[in-house]
Amino acid sequence: MSRVALVTGSSRGIGRAVAIRLAKDGYDICVNYEKRADKAEETAAAVRELGRKAITFKADVSDSDAVNAMFDFAGKELGEVDVLVSNAGIAGQAQIQDVTRERWDRFFAVNVTGAFNAVHEVIPHMIHEKKGCIITISSMWGLRGASCESVYSATKAALIGFTRSLAKELAPSGIRVNCVAPGVIDTDMLDELPEGVKDTLADETPLGRLGTPEDIAEAVAFLASDKADFITGQVIMPDGGFVV
Ligand code: NAD
Repeated sequence: MSRVALVTGSSRGIGRAVAIRLAKDGYDICVNYEKRADKAEETAAAVRELGRKAITFKADVSDSDAVNAMFDFAGKELGEVDVLVSNAGIAGQAQIQDVTRERWDRFFAVNVTGAFNAVHEVIPHMIHEKKGCIITISSMWGLRGASCESVYSATKAALIGFTRSLAKELAPSGIRVNCVAPGVIDTDMLDELPEGVKDTLADETPLGRLGTPEDIAEAVAFLASDKADFITGQVIMPDGGFVV
């Protein structure tokens, strides 16, 4: 029987790598994207090359109606979702005195409410089946705090609290909920860092390099697999030793 995974924000970066990695493990994939249909199609094509089904769906994760429509579509085209990876996120640097209320609200709407919206849609089926797996993508900054990234860090800390609480609440229903909190990963998200900061961050990483999207995808695939059957409520940190 086919298994279905939905990965939010999987048109590029970590989300794309996760989608492809889960396809290697036999999942059909719903590729969610916000703006770039062409990029989402590239992810879907890579999944299909692995012999799995893939669909794409445009939905801003902060919009509950759009997320509802996405899960309906995925259910009809692929079957109900067995694994949800809540990956979509936005980041950015600003000193706290420059953080507008609008910016604060948008970060929470995408990074936290976006996860809530997806979880809310996937849960009825998982509870009915008494199985399922939810993986949230936080950040090491959610555990550690990052200067000039207070809003981002706050959203990522909120995700960890959400994950741990859900793990306790949903364990009796056979649903595992875990979090991956990456270190510095070389994706488009780093593009707005000032010149030279990427090199500095690589130097500060004990393993001496930035992570790759595939590094994160491996952790997600492990948590989604039977090998992690007794693991729930955990935060796994593929961060090259940054937070020790
Ligand atoms: P990225 O910017 O390449 O990817 C983010 C993805 O989220 C994109 O596909 C984007 O379109 C999507 N997205 C953004 N807003 C959305 C919305 N409203 N609705 C639907 N999709 C939306 O960055 P990435 O590094 O691949 O980030 C993926 C996740 O990993 C994010 O949650 C990010 O916070 C987290 N993360 C990244 C790093 C890093 O160093 N790159 C470190 C820790 C955590």
